[in-house]
Amino acid sequence: MFREAIRNFAQSEVAPLVDEAEENETCPVELFSKLGKLGYLCPGYPPEYGGGGLGETGTCIMVEELAKVSSGICSGLMVQSGLATYAILTHATEEQKQRFLVPAIKGEKVTAYGLTEPNAGSDAAAIETTAKRDGNSYIINGSKIYITNGQTCDLVTLAASTDRSKGSRGISTIILEKDTPGFSRTTMRKLGHHSAATSELSFEDCRVPVENLIGEEGRGFRYMLEALNPARISHSARSVGLARAAFDATLDYAKERKQFGQPIGKFQAISFKLARMAIEIEAARALLYQVASLFDEGNECRKEAPMTKHFSSNVAIRIAEEAMRIHAGAGYLAESTIQRYFRDAILYHTTEGTTEIQELIISRELGL
Ligand SMILES: Cc1cc2nc3c(=O)[nH]c(=O)nc-3n(C[C@H](O)[C@H](O)[C@H](O)COP(=O)(O)OP(=O)(O)OC[C@H]3O[C@@H](n4cnc5c(N)ncnc54)[C@H](O)[C@@H]3O)c2cc1C
Repeated sequence: MFREAIRNFAQSEVAPLVDEAEENETCPVELFSKLGKLGYLCPGYPPEYGGGGLGETGTCIMVEELAKVSSGICSGLMVQSGLATYAILTHATEEQKQRFLVPAIKGEKVTAYGLTEPNAGSDAAAIETTAKRDGNSYIINGSKIYITNGQTCDLVTLAASTDRSKGSRGISTIILEKDTPGFSRTTMRKLGHHSAATSELSFEDCRVPVENLIGEEGRGFRYMLEALNPARISHSARSVGLARAAFDATLDYAKERKQFGQPIGKFQAISFKLARMAIEIEAARALLYQVASLFDEGNECRKEAPMTKHFSSNVAIRIAEEAMRIHAGAGYLAESTIQRYFRDAILYHTTEGTTEIQELIISRELGL
C-alpha cells in the first residue's frame, strides 16, 4: 500500500516539477512539507516523532519510487530521511529531538549533512573545521564542500573538531542553524543531479550554543559514520529506482524503434542486452531488500550495506550506459531523460563513500 501511495505521489506531485528543478538546480522545497504532512518524508522513523514506523525497508520503498522519477530530487529528500537526521534520532536528547528531528520529519525544516571538506573526502577523519568552546557556545570555523541541500537547508548536522589533538576522537556532531551569523553558502555546479542543490558551506566565527551538541563531545565521527550505513542501503534503492526507469524506457523504445524493417528489440544483440539488464536489476533489487530486512532485524550490516551500495551503483551505471547505447542518437539529445539517467548514475560511484571505499570496508570486514 505504501509503495502504491508513494508511486502515485511521485507521478502526481514530483514528476511535474522535474524539468523546472533541473533548470533551477535545486530540490523543490515544497516537496519536503508535502511529503512530511503525509508522513512519507521519513517513513523509516518511529511514529512518536512523526515517522512512518516502516524501518529501512520503508525508506527504501520511498527512495526507489522517487528515484524512478528523479534521482536528483530523491537525493535531496533522502538526506532528510536518513543521513542528516540519523545522529539526531539515535543520539540526541528528547529536547533536541523535539527541536530538530520533529520539524525535519514534518518537512518544516530542511536538513543537510556536513562531513566532506576540501581536504577531507574519503579520509573524512582529516576534517579541519573546528568548534572551539567559549563559555556556553562553540565558535565554528572552516568549510564543507559538496553538501546536498546546502543551499536550502535550515540546519546542518555538522562534523567539527572540538579537539584537534585527538584526531577522529576529537570530532563532535553539532547542529548549526542557518541564521547563525558567519554562515554562508555557495552553489557548486555539476554534471548531473541538477535537481539537487550542492553547496560549499563556510563558517566564520559562527557562535552555536552548546545545547546544539549531539551526544557526547568527541564521539561525533562515530555518529556521522553510523548514519552512512543505513544511508548506503537507501542509496542502493536510489540506484535500483534509476536503473528500473532507464530499463523500462529502453524496453519500450526497443519495441517501438524500427530499423531494417523490424523493431530493434528483435535483433538478438539488443534483446540479449535487455535480458542481461533485467537480470542485473532483479539481482540488485533482491540484494537491496534482503539487506534492508537484515538492518530492520537489528543487524548493523557493516559488510552488507557497502556490498549492496557497491553492487547496485555499478548496476545502475551499466544500465544507464546500455540505455544510452540502445537509444543511440535519441538518447543523446538534451531533452531526452536517457542522457539525464546517464549523467545522474555516474555519481553513484562517489556519494555515501566511493566504490573503492566500499571495497576497502568490505575487505576489512573480511579480515583482510
Ligand atoms: C553531488 C555530490 C553530493 C554530495 N553530498 C554530500 C553531502 O551531502 N554531505 C557530505 O558530507 N558529502 C557529500 N558529498 C561528498 C562525497 O561523499 C565525497 O565526494 C566522497 O566521499 C569522495 O570524496 P572526494 O570527492 O574528496 O574524493 P577523494 O577522497 O579525493 O577520492 C579520489 C579518488 O581516490 C580514491 N581513494 C581515496 N582513498 C582511497 C583509498 N584509501 N583506497 C582506494 N582508493 C581511494 C577514491 O575512491 C576516488 O576514486 C557529495 C559529493 C557529490 C559529488
